[in-house]
Amino acid sequence: AEALRRQTPPTAIEVALRATQDWAALPIDAYLRGEAVLRREARVPFQGWRMVSYTAYSSVRERVNGVLALEVMGFAIFLAMMFWFASRKATNRVAVFERESAELRALNAALQREIAARKQVERNLEVAEQTMAQTSKLAALGEMSAAVSHELNQPLAAMKTYLAGARLLLQRKRPEETLSSFQRIDDLIDRMGAITRQLKSYARKGSDAFEEVDTRAAVSSALSMMEPQLKNRYVEISRTLPGEPAMIFGDRLRLEQVIINLLRNAIDATKTVADPRIDVILALGETVTLTVRDNGSGIDDLDSLFEPFYTTKQPGDGVGLGLAISSGIVNDLGGRMTARNGAGGGAVFEVQLPRLKTAAKAAE
Ligand code: ADP
Repeated sequence: AEALRRQTPPTAIEVALRATQDWAALPIDAYLRGEAVLRREARVPFQGWRMVSYTAYSSVRERVNGVLALEVMGFAIFLAMMFWFASRKATNRVAVFERESAELRALNAALQREIAARKQVERNLEVAEQTMAQTSKLAALGEMSAAVSHELNQPLAAMKTYLAGARLLLQRKRPEETLSSFQRIDDLIDRMGAITRQLKSYARKGSDAFEEVDTRAAVSSALSMMEPQLKNRYVEISRTLPGEPAMIFGDRLRLEQVIINLLRNAIDATKTVADPRIDVILALGETVTLTVRDNGSGIDDLDSLFEPFYTTKQPGDGVGLGLAISSGIVNDLGGRMTARNGAGGGAVFEVQLPRLKTAAKAAE
């Protein structure tokens, strides 16, 4: 017991560590009733007492195993939680991806629906436009046929009356009056010819007959063609032509038709004026510009001016096709026709045509 007392007793942990290091290598502390036990000794500060306790190895092992099992379990739970969090994060991410891709798919589908709807609208619009174009062509055709048949029927009916009158006059042997009836019929035929000529020039389209045209020559020939009508009344005509050729690329006859129409309108507009005057000015710049100015009554309705069948003239004096046809011809030649009222009264018509510069230089 003395020897035992001098020994510093190992702590329980040391003993446990030693015991777990190598169970077999350690000597058993003691045996109690044939069972290996762990000996623990404690000093009690009372009369040099020592307290010795014995614990069965098996119970220590159980405890250690219990703590180990607890730790393993804790670690396993920790690992499981980690996995759970990781998988939850992954699942969340997948869910977000899926949501986003579902939204994208929905957006895509909506866009496709919209595109399809738009295409349908476009197709509908095209069909509507075609129908409109067709309808307006038919309407124009109808309007034109009505006006033309009215314009032609009127002189035809008048001719029938004059013929009946002429027959009666012949029976009554009044040749002088019969002749004047014939003259009237002749005038009516001229008038019908004028109407059909206008329509013919309208129908003749296309750039087949296009050639290099000197606008100065077209102005001169239009003026000489109007001479008989100008002779009837005194109208002062001033013409200003450039010294160099005013070349355009177009149809000479139709260009002359435009100038004749403008001159005829100017003559008509100056009927009520005491000193009628018409200025024809041809100017060269970026374009070839023809201006026909009169000192007549001026234009009543600038908006309807170029509309087919718009006329302020008496039935028989005008069909209202002249300006509609003329502006159509100018458009075909690649130019444009404008109209305004002059500052000092009267009307000003301006025709601008693309200038053929190379040809102009070649001709110089
Ligand atoms: P129309 O001469 O057969 O009436 P136009 O298309 O040539 O047909 O002219 C349409 C209308 O434009 C004329 O009835 C007239 O009212 C107006 N107009 C044309 N030229 C002139 C002008 N120089 N001055 C005033 N009004 C004009």
